[in-house]
Amino acid sequence: MPFYFKNQCTQCSFSITCGEPGVTYVISDSGDRVVCPHVGENSFIAQSLHISEKQAWNARYYATSWWWRLFGGWRHSKVAKLIATRTGKLSHCVCSDMHEFKLDYEKDRRICPVCSGREIKRVVDLEGEACPCCRKGHIEKIFSGSIT
Ligand SMILES: [Zn+2]
Ligand SMILES: [Zn+2]
Repeated sequence: MPFYFKNQCTQCSFSITCGEPGVTYVISDSGDRVVCPHVGENSFIAQSLHISEKQAWNARYYATSWWWRLFGGWRHSKVAKLIATRTGKLSHCVCSDMHEFKLDYEKDRRICPVCSGREIKRVVDLEGEACPCCRKGHIEKIFSGSIT
């Protein structure tokens, strides 16, 4: 059963639903970013990139290990390289003008697509921060229910 949390300001009415920390996407052959389904992420990636599920799993697994990065192991693997360039994570972000949008925090320019504002933050990073709306309160994470 998934639980939902809200980031809420202690002073004003600002609140924003905490999405998931990051949604995996894969870049299709036509160059579109396609969000992976929750279940079967690896098989979706494998299909989209025309590799086997095992290759996808291995490459993603090793990419998270520090020694693999340290020794530049991923550089030697074509699959790992493919996955590094063709997948990413979209984060739920908010700008100082309260526009909400999603972008790849690692790869994209950190700019609001609506107002071109550069003061953007990931919603997951807002907890404990000064409120971007009133700048007086701070943001607290509160439980906002569950969906069965
Ligand atoms: Zn904006
Ligand atoms: Zn506030």
